[in-house]
Amino acid sequence: MQDARRTSIVADFMNQLSHAPTSALLLDYDGTLAPFQTERDHAYPYPGVVPILDRIIRSGRTRVVVISGRPVHEVRVLLGSLNNLEIWGAHGLEHLLADGTYRQATIDSEILTVLEKARRWAVTTGFASLIETKPGGIAIHWRGLTEAEIEKTHALAQKELTSFAEQPGLKLLRFDGGLELRTARPDKGDAVAAILKESDPNAQVAFLGDDLTDEDAFQALEGGGLSVLVRSEYRETKANAWLRPPHELISFLEQWLSSLSA
Ligand SMILES: [Mg+2]
Repeated sequence: MQDARRTSIVADFMNQLSHAPTSALLLDYDGTLAPFQTERDHAYPYPGVVPILDRIIRSGRTRVVVISGRPVHEVRVLLGSLNNLEIWGAHGLEHLLADGTYRQATIDSEILTVLEKARRWAVTTGFASLIETKPGGIAIHWRGLTEAEIEKTHALAQKELTSFAEQPGLKLLRFDGGLELRTARPDKGDAVAAILKESDPNAQVAFLGDDLTDEDAFQALEGGGLSVLVRSEYRETKANAWLRPPHELISFLEQWLSSLSA
């Protein structure tokens, strides 16, 4: 994507934002607001992100929402200093509203049974330290392993989890640093669709994400807002703009803030 083109897409959006009655800033967490870390509970946001988000939230003119594959409570801890933040966790299965109200969608018992079988398979295969059990899913993380270990873990997990994912209502997600077997719905696109449905039709909406699971959100926003791939290197995507973190991300958030006060 050419620099001139991506700059003009963002500039047009910011111009419209300054005239919009209301707006929504939807953000993935890992890889978008925060760099990846082997220790997942140390993945704090890039310096400068939190103060700007705080000012955007305090403006009262933008609904700021984090939509993450992580459970809500983890995002809450990593962004601990932000008040009144709305979070959709576990790919949209969990929802924490800005006023503190919490909701979780129910998961079919047959799906839970398959997830438990997959978890037991992973433990007996020797992956206990790589497993993350979360609402509606089980992830195998290999960030920090040697290349040979990653290759072996990936091959084994891919084969076995693919067969679990063939059961109805499940899917296998490849993410940056692992694989996740999880309930097929909701996904991040469902979260974005729910937000769009309750938004003013003239609201300016943007979603920023880095990973393959964010493509559902990009698609849900098609024709209804700005979708932004946040990634050091460009890859094929449904997003209509691209930012390199952290500098272009910070600049985007600064432009957002100044558009609100324009
Ligand atoms: Mg991400």
